[in-house]
Amino acid sequence: MKIAHLERLSSIDYPGRLAAVVWTVGCNLRCPFCYNPELVLPHLSAQLSPLPSREVLEVLRERRGFLDGLCVTGGEPTLQPQLPEFLARVKGLGLAVKLDTNGTQPQALELLLQEKLVDYVALDVKAPRSRYPEFTGISQDVSPLVQESLEIVRRMAPDYEVRTTVAPGLGPEDLEAIAREVAGAKRYVLQPFFVPQGKGLVDESWRGRPHLSPAELTPVAERLAALLPCRART
Ligand code: SF4
Repeated sequence: MKIAHLERLSSIDYPGRLAAVVWTVGCNLRCPFCYNPELVLPHLSAQLSPLPSREVLEVLRERRGFLDGLCVTGGEPTLQPQLPEFLARVKGLGLAVKLDTNGTQPQALELLLQEKLVDYVALDVKAPRSRYPEFTGISQDVSPLVQESLEIVRRMAPDYEVRTTVAPGLGPEDLEAIAREVAGAKRYVLQPFFVPQGKGLVDESWRGRPHLSPAELTPVAERLAALLPCRART
């Protein structure tokens, strides 16, 4: 497992649970608005010193009295060959697991769910299908893979959300198109775009582009709630 960073306690990354968070290194997408370029762009991630998973597991073992779970995010965690083994050890500590994924590895996701290694999936849907390459930064249209992952998650995940980071250039009509494309999902969450202080972007030219504000997302989510359970995370 290539783990770049461990946050020992978070109350916002796993709905309803106090969780630690790990960020894995490497991603197959290049979302231009992504604020973790050091996890995504090889020339930056080569400068990282990954944490040994043994050390991460030891910290989790020591802190399990304070924690309910672990959120595994990235980068794209499902690209890590050792993820099933790592999660089995986390589950062995009695912690629930939330997986954040871009949904492009449906077979890996299905395996994790078959093995009951994930309790909550947050599945990113980056854009309406017709605009996927624009928002993933790669020419391949991966939206059919994400749709396949959604079907797997609906069938197998103990709990899940579909979510969209409302990046610059995504408007209410795009969010409605996504909501229609994921109709039937248990819940759909709109996340405002922001760039934490001191963070870079995969494509710096996206910095400063206009985007919907948290206040603007709330009424959009209220409208989309006619299609499926939807809320804005503000
Ligand atoms: S936002 Fe996109 S590029 Fe960044 S980690 Fe997620 S899927 Fe990868």
